[in-house]
Amino acid sequence: MTTFLGMPTAPRGVGHLRGDDPFPVAARRSLADAQLRRNLAKATATIRAKRAKVTAELPDWEELRAAGRAIKTRTMAHLDRYLEQLEAEFTSRGGIVHWAADAHEANLIAVDLVRATGATEVVKVKSIVTDEIGLNEALADAGISAIETDLAELIVQLGHDRPSHFLVPAIHRNRAEIRDIFLRQMDGVDPGLTDRPADLAGAARRYLRQKFLTARVGVSGANFAVAETGTLCVVESEGNGRMCLTLPDTLITIMGIEKVIPTWTDLGVFLQLLPRSATGERMNPYTSMWTGVTPGDGPRQVHLILLDNGRTAALADSVGRQALHCIRCSACLNVCPVYERVGGHAYGSVYPGPIGAVLSPMLTGIEDNASLPYASSLCGACYEACPVQIDIPELLVHLRARHVDEARRRWPPGLEAITMSTAAWAMADPARFRSAQSLGRLGRVGRRRGVIGRLPPPLAAWTRARDAPVPPAETFRHWWSRTHGDAHDRP
Ligand code: SF4
Repeated sequence: MTTFLGMPTAPRGVGHLRGDDPFPVAARRSLADAQLRRNLAKATATIRAKRAKVTAELPDWEELRAAGRAIKTRTMAHLDRYLEQLEAEFTSRGGIVHWAADAHEANLIAVDLVRATGATEVVKVKSIVTDEIGLNEALADAGISAIETDLAELIVQLGHDRPSHFLVPAIHRNRAEIRDIFLRQMDGVDPGLTDRPADLAGAARRYLRQKFLTARVGVSGANFAVAETGTLCVVESEGNGRMCLTLPDTLITIMGIEKVIPTWTDLGVFLQLLPRSATGERMNPYTSMWTGVTPGDGPRQVHLILLDNGRTAALADSVGRQALHCIRCSACLNVCPVYERVGGHAYGSVYPGPIGAVLSPMLTGIEDNASLPYASSLCGACYEACPVQIDIPELLVHLRARHVDEARRRWPPGLEAITMSTAAWAMADPARFRSAQSLGRLGRVGRRRGVIGRLPPPLAAWTRARDAPVPPAETFRHWWSRTHGDAHDRP
């Protein structure tokens, strides 16, 4: 067995964890789309209300959250042991385990496995980790079509779009837009298709049925993996996942290493937390679990690809590692005032919203996603909603500090670092500070009152979005000196 635990790895091919534009540029673009904001506001408000209702029903909801956090903390502390146990149990029941250090390696393994079957098409269960590594593109490059079978993922795929929410990947689309996508892209669709939800679902069902019945390879992620028996678990709402997990001869599951949990008792906690936080349901409509190969039932070959892709580097950060506790329920997205206005695409990563703002930079390295930890008002709503009590505001501040520390060490220094060093130098000495204050008062020239609307570069970026106050006519030191007679502190 080759593992990478205990040895933080720098991912070679990180996949879809960063966008072309930094968050402020992408967010400005999204904010200009009024239809997108309407779609998001409606969808997030609906899910928020459902979640609030079903979590309020449980008298021990807070205890469950604390239990979820405790299980995750303990698991991360012994991740190497639980992963080795998972591998041993999964293998002993006829499954095959593969280890992938990054997206590139995971894709190579998956493509080889599909090629070995001779299949040119695979059916997929909704899986964020396969989006993370760009599996569909890697399969396409090898001449293999990947068919998304989750309704929302299918909409995204047919629309040549990107997911913008964990749970509702097409949350940015309304019914009319979905009907238009189906009419344009879906083979054999009824040209009179309406935008009624039942009609749209029926069209997708007819299209996918044919794919399920002919597919020889299924691809999935996993919500959880129980180490004590080597059991994998997928939760979903539509039943398409169960078709992918049971009908094909070969099943390939790709899973981030943080998804392992020690025992079935632990699974019981998460199966209560996840559906209530995610869809606002008391339990999932479909919970599929499989343990290796079962003769006469389900796939003949069962593979598990365990993916690092920056996770051991995140684990090495004693504060940041709690981002790995995430169970992808999306509750933090639905309560975030920033996400509600800009949507998922602005984050540039397959992990959007508050958790994406911390997880993506932790997986890629802070420099590759430096703007994301600032994509928050630090209001704390995400922390209150999170079913495993991830302190996202604490992580955001921690990553901002890491970003500043790394910027300080860089050579040549950036403009911000030069400005801050100069300010620190001026403030470290009373005489220099007095001189700086006198210089600052030059800002009063030509202004009797009010604010400075525009500063020269490099300070122009500050005044582009806000006014700067005019320096006071008299500094505090001057006032103190004048009223208390300290002759050493005259300006
Ligand atoms: S950080 Fe918490 S609330 Fe957000 S998706 Fe993950 S588990 Fe859910």
